[in-house]
Amino acid sequence: MKIREECGVFGVYAPNEKNVASMTYYGLYALQHRGQDSCGIVVNDGGVFTAKKELGLVGDVFTKEVLSSLGNGKIAVGHVRAGTKGTITQANAQPLVVSHIKGCMAVAFNGNIINKSELRTGLELQGSIFHSSTDTEVIAYEIIKERLNQPSIEHAISSVMGKLDGAYTIVVMSPTKLIACRDPRGYRPLCYGITDEGDYVVASESCALDAVNAKMVRDVEPGEIVIFDAMGVRSIKDFCNTKKQSSCIFEFVYNARPDSIVDGYSVHQARLEMGKYLAKKYPVEADVVIGVPDSGLDAALGFSKESGIPYEIGFLKNKYIGRTFIFPEQKDREDQVRKKLNPIASAVAGKRVVMVDDSIVRGTTSARIVKLLRDAGAKEVHFRVSSPPFLFPCYYGTDIPNKEVLIANQHTQEEIRQLVGVDTLNYLDLEDLKKIAILDGKNSFCYACFDGKYATEPPKALEASKYEVKININEKTKRH
Ligand code: SF4
Repeated sequence: MKIREECGVFGVYAPNEKNVASMTYYGLYALQHRGQDSCGIVVNDGGVFTAKKELGLVGDVFTKEVLSSLGNGKIAVGHVRAGTKGTITQANAQPLVVSHIKGCMAVAFNGNIINKSELRTGLELQGSIFHSSTDTEVIAYEIIKERLNQPSIEHAISSVMGKLDGAYTIVVMSPTKLIACRDPRGYRPLCYGITDEGDYVVASESCALDAVNAKMVRDVEPGEIVIFDAMGVRSIKDFCNTKKQSSCIFEFVYNARPDSIVDGYSVHQARLEMGKYLAKKYPVEADVVIGVPDSGLDAALGFSKESGIPYEIGFLKNKYIGRTFIFPEQKDREDQVRKKLNPIASAVAGKRVVMVDDSIVRGTTSARIVKLLRDAGAKEVHFRVSSPPFLFPCYYGTDIPNKEVLIANQHTQEEIRQLVGVDTLNYLDLEDLKKIAILDGKNSFCYACFDGKYATEPPKALEASKYEVKININEKTKRH
């Protein structure tokens, strides 16, 4: 099993009406790695919202006809989603579009709200009716409620931020504004840029800015609300510096694309360093270094550079098959690993191979990959993992499961080595990861899935099924 990211968000504000749907399409395409279960785009043409959201990949859902049916506009928001088992439904697809007394609103969300259960119960007790099991709908209700008493939507969002605990990046579209905000600890990445034509673009990762030829302006600060409208760009910073920054270190290990810059730091460079530290700390005599595509490749290159052992492409990845988690059943997952990764026998046969991957979750996928290498003739397999062992679950939007299924929580390193079937096994030391993860001279990251030090209280147990809604909603809505 590999980790699932939770979502990617994207938004565009153009001073002049244009094809913002296709800009959003390209942005979402670049963010597809953050979620492959559903996707959606909402276009705002003078306050008229046209939406399309559907289960499936961006390239499949948004055909040329669908994109042109969204029409032109000045503002658009988009979303890609990875759901957990039981939550992959049409009702949970985003962005969420709602009508309220002050107008229309579309909301796209990434993260996990720790206190959503309490908030939702409070809303339900006041008569709110929910159509999905997403945090997004809870947030939308809270914003609408606050909007009744606040002078603007950004002030309503600011009020809601005071109620939310957890990890979130949110992009909201009102009839006249695009608004982006990031939680005060900054768990999930969010940045914005500008095109040569003066269009503002907001995205989970900078690779999506690149995709629409927007130049990065900066990251949205933890706790900041950025507003894009006819008056230009401005911020509300009431929640900045109210909490210690806890950016997710796993964005650098796995979640983010290597060509992204997150919080001013190159993901590719961070992964190279991870590989170098592994080579320094855990050297081995070998003939070749290979990485497991995609997120093991950069760290493998770093291992090779540091050790002097030649880097080879060890696997051909079938790019037309999604990530391993698309198939929920174990048998399908195993089949998919085999279909997705084919070892290049000439690179590994008869050789002592260093294999670098980003992490081990349950160990089953790793064992399968190692077997592929053995079958292809690898003489020895030395496994180097570019993150520390997962010992604890994540409550902040990355789907790292309960301790009971995390192999490192249940077994010693030697037992894992045997279960995975490798000659040697070493993880990146947490202390070394912390040396790499220095921003502006200070370490501002969350490592909770490795060290159990959560910045918030863990959430109260959620009855997930209680919030499961399996209905088909209108796939295309047009509202005023
Ligand atoms: Fe990231 Fe792990 Fe912290 Fe979750 S617990 S936010 S995956 S570092």
